[in-house]
Amino acid sequence: AKAGEDALIRRPALLQDGTRIEVLLNVGRPEDLEGLDPGVCDGIGLVRTEFLFRPGHPLPGEDEQLAAYSRIAAWAEGRPVTIRTVDVGGDKPVEGLTAEGETNPFLGLRGLRLSLSRPEAFRVQLRALARAGAEHDIRVMLPMVTVPAEFDQAAALLDEEVAALARLGLPRRRPPLGIMVEVPAAALGAARFGADFYSIGSNDLTQYTMAAARDSAAVAGLNDTGDPAVLELMARTVAAGRTRHVPVSICGDAAADTGLLPQLLGIGLRCLSVAPMAVGRVKAAIAGLAHV
Ligand code: PEP
Ligand code: MG
Repeated sequence: AKAGEDALIRRPALLQDGTRIEVLLNVGRPEDLEGLDPGVCDGIGLVRTEFLFRPGHPLPGEDEQLAAYSRIAAWAEGRPVTIRTVDVGGDKPVEGLTAEGETNPFLGLRGLRLSLSRPEAFRVQLRALARAGAEHDIRVMLPMVTVPAEFDQAAALLDEEVAALARLGLPRRRPPLGIMVEVPAAALGAARFGADFYSIGSNDLTQYTMAAARDSAAVAGLNDTGDPAVLELMARTVAAGRTRHVPVSICGDAAADTGLLPQLLGIGLRCLSVAPMAVGRVKAAIAGLAHV
């Protein structure tokens, strides 16, 4: 199987009937890309920017963030790169930034909620992303979005910062702005968002739908992305993308679960974003399927 994977990994992923499946990468830290050939992927579907926060250090400034985003995007050699704004809180606490004393951090001030509560810090990240977008195909993704008003607020901040950069005469581009679909309310209401794209966060969507924490071994049996309830929410997201003519992908761990692949393709997904380690295995599984 290994030799077959090696041959496949540099080619676009196709089902046996010729259906093209995009395979993108999830990147947790820039080092993940070292020594990796960008030809193995169709781009980067998720950059988790939490790597920017180092314990004991102040939040990185605009120029440092710009350098980090540009380096990652340069690696992709023109392929699209989707960068997620910081998703701290929940299972990703950051000292001095996330709320303390929450009895249920997964339902607390996390992801976009925290960014909107700290607009000064959020604006710095949006400016760095818009500046990186001047040179690269950068798309910006918002985590833990629940209602359209949150998306609208983030879009307004992004527009303001792009306008501010323009006044300064700095190179910039207003990037496409999309949402993670990882809260059941966002999946059910997906069509009501003005998002430029959707990416399904199956890790959180599963835990919030099944009321079974992603980090609890005791309820791991219930934390099942293949449950019909979770698949139905994902199908709804795919339908919203079709209605609104915007792309839909999946970037949760389920995208690399080849046992689930027929179901994911069956609900209409054609774009998977997976950890670099999983690319060969996922492409081999795709090539092994006759059709959806
Ligand atoms: C997810 O929730 O599926 C996801 C991709 O985001 P994270 O795992 O970073 O919460
Ligand atoms: Mg998530």
